[in-house]
Amino acid sequence: MLDLDRQEVMFLPGVGPQRAKLLKEELHVSTLRDLLYYFPYKHIDRSRLYAINELSSDMPYVQVRGQILSFETEGEGRKRRLVAHFTDGHGLMDLVWFQGLKYILSHYKLHTDYIVFGRPTAFNGRINISHPDLDPVESLKLSSMGMQPYYNTTEKMKRAGLNSRAIEHFTSTLFLRLQERIPETLPDYLIGQLDLMSLDDALRQAHYPKNASLFRQAQFRLKFEELFYVQLNILRYTRDRIRKYHGYVFTRVGAFFHEFYSDYLPFPLTNAQKRVIREIRNDMGSGRQMNRLLQGDVGSGKTLVALMSMLIALDNGFQACIMAPTEILAEQHLATFRNFLGDMSVRVELLTGSVKGKSREAVLRGVQDGSVQILVGTHAVLEDTVVFQHLGMVVIDEQHRFGVAQRARLWTKNNHPPHVLVMTATPIPRTLAMTLYGDLDVSVIDELPPGRKPIVTTHQFDNRRELLYQAMRKQIELGRQVYVVYPLIKESEKMDIKNLEDGYEQLCKVFPEYKISKVHGKMKPIEKDAEMQRFASGETKILVATTVIEVGVNVPNASVMVIENAERFGLAQLHQLRGRVGRGADQSYCILVTKYELSRDTRRRMQIMTESNDGFEIAEEDLKLRGPGDLEGTQQSGIAFDLKLANLAKDGQILQLARDTAMQVLDHDPDGVLPENKILWAQFYRLKKQNINWSAIS
Ligand code: ADP
Ligand code: MG
Repeated sequence: MLDLDRQEVMFLPGVGPQRAKLLKEELHVSTLRDLLYYFPYKHIDRSRLYAINELSSDMPYVQVRGQILSFETEGEGRKRRLVAHFTDGHGLMDLVWFQGLKYILSHYKLHTDYIVFGRPTAFNGRINISHPDLDPVESLKLSSMGMQPYYNTTEKMKRAGLNSRAIEHFTSTLFLRLQERIPETLPDYLIGQLDLMSLDDALRQAHYPKNASLFRQAQFRLKFEELFYVQLNILRYTRDRIRKYHGYVFTRVGAFFHEFYSDYLPFPLTNAQKRVIREIRNDMGSGRQMNRLLQGDVGSGKTLVALMSMLIALDNGFQACIMAPTEILAEQHLATFRNFLGDMSVRVELLTGSVKGKSREAVLRGVQDGSVQILVGTHAVLEDTVVFQHLGMVVIDEQHRFGVAQRARLWTKNNHPPHVLVMTATPIPRTLAMTLYGDLDVSVIDELPPGRKPIVTTHQFDNRRELLYQAMRKQIELGRQVYVVYPLIKESEKMDIKNLEDGYEQLCKVFPEYKISKVHGKMKPIEKDAEMQRFASGETKILVATTVIEVGVNVPNASVMVIENAERFGLAQLHQLRGRVGRGADQSYCILVTKYELSRDTRRRMQIMTESNDGFEIAEEDLKLRGPGDLEGTQQSGIAFDLKLANLAKDGQILQLARDTAMQVLDHDPDGVLPENKILWAQFYRLKKQNINWSAIS
């Protein structure tokens, strides 16, 4: 029996040390098992031969059997091409090459049977195929070929002759050599219970499917298994944590909470806020450590929930800490909290990279002696110099997503883990939450504060500026204020700032009668604050800004959000930006301005934005459009994007099944000792050892 995990691909015929090195570097394929799990990205049906007379240019791929009648070179210089006139005995077509002419001429013979494979196009009434695959008939066993796998390879690999065909050769050779069945990696009873295909069949069918139905079954089995072991890891970790750590028991809801609730709360809580605060209170009193994810749309009032939860910690003699992804957001939280708390005797302090010298020392001292009751900060609060006297509760306000391991670092600040509340900036799709935050309990604020009118969103091309200015002027005349936001990306910062400056000047010309503010990241904090202040007070009517305003800013009188170069923003970010307006009682507007030429995805993004105000819905669409690997934050957490087959945008049902099954296994076999699960735990530990990315969640 071949040892799939020990044997290296190098020893497969046709690989050798050079190519083995490339496979490893470019695809992380070094063992035979790695190769088996390097799946094709598509298949093409090669079981059928076409006659030239039935070809048309709307067919995706075709193959034809026939002979080359003659070669001809046409054109000059860079337009030079080689044309082979090809016949199947009935019709005629042309095969065309623009590169590698010499090789083709010396390699392929006239009047010899070949199988041609490629994408047909029509030119001057004749079908031609450029750069076709051309194989001698005897080298292809067409009847047995069926679906041909196509594998991704990199440019570097292609230059060394390692194309899809080469990989196909390796996998087909490997399957031929595997005399015995590939050992199972799931226990029999699960395979029976879920009616799964065996691993051996699944791997073979995933590469070389006999038909579409077997291919689907293979995909199902492999995706299930992939998601199952990830969920098993997350859930086992969670159960361990619950077993190991006991949470502080907050028995009291006392003076701070009650005083705030009855005397300082400026508006009644929404029912959703009340429910979530109840859930949090229950966790805190349960004796187990709270690990809760708080999901809510932009503007649903998560900050207030965070503050009131922290007050419960204070009521029980503990300190609380809230961690924001950026300094601006941390400063904004500080201001919001101080504002909410008014003259209540709660000491709230800020700790970011910009808090330096004497004031930093004072904050650190206060944190250590317990006089700072609420610490608001950035990553800076994780530094070793920050020592709490008695930290009971941590809120993580996330824009970027932390992995479980990073979250766990917070607890090491105590010998006892504090309660943890994670808040997302915008909703994230359920499947992503189950994977990224699968170890957390979930609370959802599914209700906006009363009186909010849905924001009216429109999409305009930037060659119709008069319309835009008209809309802006109309609102300003009604007494409202307007944001104009420009993208800012580090790599193109200079251009971006220039765009903003140009836009600012243009607006000054169009609106000479109004004062206009300008804010961007390159300004000094004092100037920035002053400008923000002028806008907040209503002195300036328009605020031109980069995305610094994405987070935090809260000016209820601002009712128009103009987003310039909207095509450069992702959906989550657009939704977050739009959430800056619609906070007062007035009808609010969001105008997405883009260039005229847009990709299909971008048009779709604009359409979703104009049709929906629902962050949960938008998040699902975002996942569908972009795939989990591209979603913000998945990289850091290093898990969702590493799935080989499963797709969190499409495989929600399989994911749920995998999670339920993992729970069932843990319920029956919490200590991992049952004989029927022997295969399962062996596979689990093997994966854990191998998969570096799992370290992020364990
Ligand atoms: P997000 O969930 O996006 O963080 P915020 O916490 O910033 O939302 O709240 C958005 C705005 O709604 C803030 O101005 C906040 O003061 C206000 N707000 C929060 N809860 C309520 C409520 N129950 N009734 C009215 N306004 C509220
Ligand atoms: Mg917020």
